[in-house]
Amino acid sequence: MKTFPMFVRMRDRDVAILGGGEQAAQKCRLILKSEARVTLYWPELDPELAELAKSGRITWNRQIPSVAALESVSLCFIATGCPGTDASLHGLAEAARVLVNVVDQPDLCEAYTPSIVDRDPVVVAIGTEGTAPVLARQIKSRMEELLEPGLGGLAALAGRLRPAAAARLQPRKRRDLWRWVFNGAPRAAHKSGAEREAARLIKDAIAQGGAPAADPGRIALVGAGPGGADLMTLRGVQRLQEADIIFYDRLVDPGVLELARRDAERVLVGKTPGAESWPQDRINQVMVQAAKEGKTVVRLKCGDPMVFGRLEEEVAAIKGAGLEVEIVPGITAASAASARLETGLTQRGEIDSVTFVSGQLRDGDRSPDWGSHLKLGTAIAIYMGVGSAPEIRDNLLAHGHRDSCAVDVVASVGHASETCLHSTLGTLEGDLASAGISNPAILFVRNPKSEAAAAPGLRVAS
Ligand code: SAH
Repeated sequence: MKTFPMFVRMRDRDVAILGGGEQAAQKCRLILKSEARVTLYWPELDPELAELAKSGRITWNRQIPSVAALESVSLCFIATGCPGTDASLHGLAEAARVLVNVVDQPDLCEAYTPSIVDRDPVVVAIGTEGTAPVLARQIKSRMEELLEPGLGGLAALAGRLRPAAAARLQPRKRRDLWRWVFNGAPRAAHKSGAEREAARLIKDAIAQGGAPAADPGRIALVGAGPGGADLMTLRGVQRLQEADIIFYDRLVDPGVLELARRDAERVLVGKTPGAESWPQDRINQVMVQAAKEGKTVVRLKCGDPMVFGRLEEEVAAIKGAGLEVEIVPGITAASAASARLETGLTQRGEIDSVTFVSGQLRDGDRSPDWGSHLKLGTAIAIYMGVGSAPEIRDNLLAHGHRDSCAVDVVASVGHASETCLHSTLGTLEGDLASAGISNPAILFVRNPKSEAAAAPGLRVAS
């Protein structure tokens, strides 16, 4: 880090702003969030700043400050609106050895203003050392979504009740109390606008010696989407942030796990094909056990838990244990793969229905009859199909489809290794091998109503 982030008390500190137009006003609005004393140095002020000066909230000095005047300020913004003037005024700040920020000239800055998410007294500051302000704004909007507008009020309430908690509770009980406050019923009440109820809950808990005994924890089955964290739903992200423990599949993108709280436990229950370490029964058992211990559990499944996710088995186990379950759907791999191909799962007038079909079945079940789903005017999206490519080809040929019938494959959609392959039934096996494609991949085969729509030329190449 070339810069060091910290929060500085601004009461009784002076801040100088050189400038009187919109750029100066921007800095002024920012710094006025704090308790600093602000002086604007410029011959003229725009109406907003003039009003602030009139109200006495800021001091206005029509002269350019002397070096000596700047020596006593904590921070100096140079924001005249003219880059050339800014650069020459920078010399003054330098001579005064004052911490300086020059608008839009990172090379001249000693201090950078971060992007701020303001839930006063909770403040998130995002800095990029001036390298990528757009990125900082993107991160800021993510944080804005994650932190409810009233969160600062709850933090302030907690701050007021800290002495009472410290006087009555041992350190461990105190930690449990605050975890519960920010994770449990008080936060939920506060978020829904019931601020007095939140305060009452916390005060009662302090009076009664700590957070109430844990109810059985909640379990949420959450769809992680097919890849990158930004393909998750906001509700899924919220559940991840609330989780004490996360049981996740092998195919879940590591970026998704990053969205969870840092102290949340993460348990890989991936079923690597062939490996027996995590049979479904054991997954069900550990999940239920964690919830019974009062933990907030997330079972994070790739794509949409509703699609080839063994959802019914997990739901039955959870309900069988007398616990409640919430299901948060996700984007299934076929949707993301068809988006990648820029070809709809359905196509008006050509493809009226699409079937999601598995390439593998349970041991002992009969091989899936893929061709029976591929009637005229339909498409199939095959999950877990790479290993069964020869059987799929034979089956579709037996149903009268041609060697030349197009097969589009999208592997690892949403991940860095995402690959698209435009192949045909006849060449599929060899094409998959030479492209080095293994699962996870989706295979699309379409049987559109008109020959023209079936022509590979109509499809968008990768
Ligand atoms: N519930 C998941 C599917 C689980 S079955 C969903 O809704 O997507 C596992 C199969 O899903 C993989 O074998 C593969 O066919 C598909 N799949 C999962 N993630 C994928 C990805 N990122 N790219 C392509 N296919 C994927």
